[in-house]
Amino acid sequence: MDAVVFFAALLIAVAVGYGLGRYRYTRRDSSRPKDYALQYYKGLSYLFNEQPDSAIDAFISSLDVNSDTLETHLALGNMLRKRGEVSKAIKIHQNLLARPGLTIKQQHESQLELARDYIRSGLLDRAEALLLELVKLSSAYKQAALVHLIEIYQDENEWDNAISMASKVEEKSYQSGGGQSLPQLQAHFSCEQALVDLEQRNYSKARTHLLAALGYDFASARASLLFARLEISQGRYRDALDHLHKIPDQDPDYIPESLQMTCESYEKLGESASLLRYLKGLLQSHPSNSLVIKIADRLRWDGDDYIAADFIAEQFKQRPSIRTLNRLIELYLPHSAGRARENLQLLKQLVDTVIAEKPSYCCSKCGFTGNSLHWLCPGCKTWGSIKPIRGVAGE
Ligand SMILES: [Zn+2]
Repeated sequence: MDAVVFFAALLIAVAVGYGLGRYRYTRRDSSRPKDYALQYYKGLSYLFNEQPDSAIDAFISSLDVNSDTLETHLALGNMLRKRGEVSKAIKIHQNLLARPGLTIKQQHESQLELARDYIRSGLLDRAEALLLELVKLSSAYKQAALVHLIEIYQDENEWDNAISMASKVEEKSYQSGGGQSLPQLQAHFSCEQALVDLEQRNYSKARTHLLAALGYDFASARASLLFARLEISQGRYRDALDHLHKIPDQDPDYIPESLQMTCESYEKLGESASLLRYLKGLLQSHPSNSLVIKIADRLRWDGDDYIAADFIAEQFKQRPSIRTLNRLIELYLPHSAGRARENLQLLKQLVDTVIAEKPSYCCSKCGFTGNSLHWLCPGCKTWGSIKPIRGVAGE
């Protein structure tokens, strides 16, 4: 079906182009229409014989490039790129740039389209060179070029450059697919830098980058999570808690991501009672299955398995969940024997299998699912769109 649509569109493009070209040649060069028509008929016959490569060559060689036909060339090039036929799109856009007769603005438009082809085909260095030139020379296409440069530097992990380009983009000309603002984007880029610093144990640089991230976006839960990790790695548990306590206000969806560090920090400070109070408060304001399990673990630590099991059973009635059911089975297993124990083990095997098969995270924009938290969605390249799944099988 795609092929039919493609050939129909190409046929229309060629037919329109032929009309325009024919019109122009009747005006200024009466000696060429015959060759011209011949090329078009060849192009059409290739189309009918399903030879798009030859059809495009015929199209390029037969339709003059000028202000009247530019849109036809651009439309065909863009359509080919969208179809994934990037080498053909490059051919068409390179042909446009090689031809004299276009205005400066039209040349820049063709250059932008060629850069988009290069991005699509992974030739990022070539795209970058074309786009940097447009930023310098084209007021009309500067903003579009900057947005593409952000994409390139993001793909290349060149975070300083990505931040710099984002600072030059006008907010009104930026429309992210996921609805993030430019400062939110810059906060993620700074977090990426901090992540590298943390992995290299370069703590002072990590601190600088995280302060920058919060400067761009005070509500960045990611920056607070990383800041807590930084403070914990240096034994500053109170400071870690200061950052972790901000997360419910910044973005409650990320509370489950903060619980392990929260428990560790309170425990290192010897403040178990405060931890339990804090977790119970969170459960009231932002209930989640991870919280139920963490609280049950604390109750088990302070009391016994039955107190923890009663708490989970009570929560289970309000919010049925596979993960809390699993923890309930784990609590009862050591206290059962004989047939009851065998049956509980069977049930646990089944629940373990169901949990293993269910993804824990989902992108709210494209539906990408997985079992680890990606801050940049691998499916739709949106920042911060992947969150823990809620409901019976998730949080
Ligand atoms: Zn996505």
